[in-house]
Amino acid sequence: MFNILVINSGSSSLKFQVIEIESGELLAKGLCERIGIDGAFTYENVRDGLDKDKKEVAIPDHRKAIELTIEALTDGSKGVLKSLSEINAVGHRVAHGGELFDGSVVVTEDVIKRLSTISDLAPLHNPANLAGVASCQELMPGVPNVLTFDTAFHQTMPPKAYMYAIPRKYYRDYKIRRYGFHGTSHHYVAQTIADHLNKKLESLKVIVCHLGNGASITAIRDGKSVDTSMGFTPAGGLIMGTRCGDVDPSVFNYIIKKEGISGEQADSIVNKESGVLALSGVSSDFRDLWEAKDKGNEDAAVALDAFIYKVAKTIGSYVAAMNGVDIICFTAGIGENDIRTRAEVLSYFGYLGITCDAERNNVRGELKEISTPDSKVRCFVVPTNEELMIAKDTYALVKK
Ligand code: AMP
Repeated sequence: MFNILVINSGSSSLKFQVIEIESGELLAKGLCERIGIDGAFTYENVRDGLDKDKKEVAIPDHRKAIELTIEALTDGSKGVLKSLSEINAVGHRVAHGGELFDGSVVVTEDVIKRLSTISDLAPLHNPANLAGVASCQELMPGVPNVLTFDTAFHQTMPPKAYMYAIPRKYYRDYKIRRYGFHGTSHHYVAQTIADHLNKKLESLKVIVCHLGNGASITAIRDGKSVDTSMGFTPAGGLIMGTRCGDVDPSVFNYIIKKEGISGEQADSIVNKESGVLALSGVSSDFRDLWEAKDKGNEDAAVALDAFIYKVAKTIGSYVAAMNGVDIICFTAGIGENDIRTRAEVLSYFGYLGITCDAERNNVRGELKEISTPDSKVRCFVVPTNEELMIAKDTYALVKK
């Protein structure tokens, strides 16, 4: 038995799972929401199939969130652990590792010191992640902590993929470049499909489409990320639920001048008021968008078309980047569940000899091939599991 607590702290939320890594079994999971606002705590003992508990409770900070997590996990009736000593290690998801981290690391004083120097790169998320680590160190002394970075998998990109064509001093002084995100998910999905096919990931050219509320696509060659659609921040690249993705860089200066708003307000428009939500005027959720389109809402139809078109153009550009593609994978909320979006994306690739099989594609949330047997490129749905990947990395680094 080797139990790993996986912690994914956002600016105002904290998700957790306990995974017994030698069997891969998920023992428990939960969510602390509205941290620093009011607070709600959800906990589920998955191992014993107990009902989910949700309660309103004050959660002023991340330390309190972790205290509640520990209390629930060791609770006499609903807990999955007899005592805290049954947690062997903690794995933390960290938003941004900058250029300092190209893989997961065990927490040391030096790691924390180095990570603190790049907090500006993810000002909402990295400090929350660091607060989570500090609380675990305090509440579970002696238990090793491991950090897994959303950006690390993409550190293999070549300069031609990550440099922006702006004055070099901005890269030199502020490290402004493409980093890419969702790295844990892209890596997990690519490795899972290679394992499924009994092939070495290094022998395949893979394009992973992580299409959720946040969305990004990665080109993976020789087992490495060679390009990815998100950029300096997770607002770049594809059209997303509420983020705009790539737009002409001068657009926001124009809006700032026209409307007399601040840079911060413009950033909020980029991240929270754009994407398919803005295009449709209906919702950021694809289920609502298809429903509205089917009822004749033309703006919802344009939002869906624009999203799908951008995904297809990005896949096409990565086929060029890798001089070919063997496998295309769809993952995350839309990628795993939205049958029509997958079919429409793949319909752009007749010229590559890709054909989507309507019957096979009628699938949600399970690993399945969705292209026809004679398709020139094999296409799959592969459910992502970032927490399992974090637990695996943690185990690899701390097992004796
Ligand atoms: P994620 O960020 O990966 O949790 O993905 C969330 C998004 O997935 C939601 O906002 C929906 O747009 C989409 N989604 C989830 N379930 C479905 C479904 N059954 N059909 C279409 N889209 C879905």
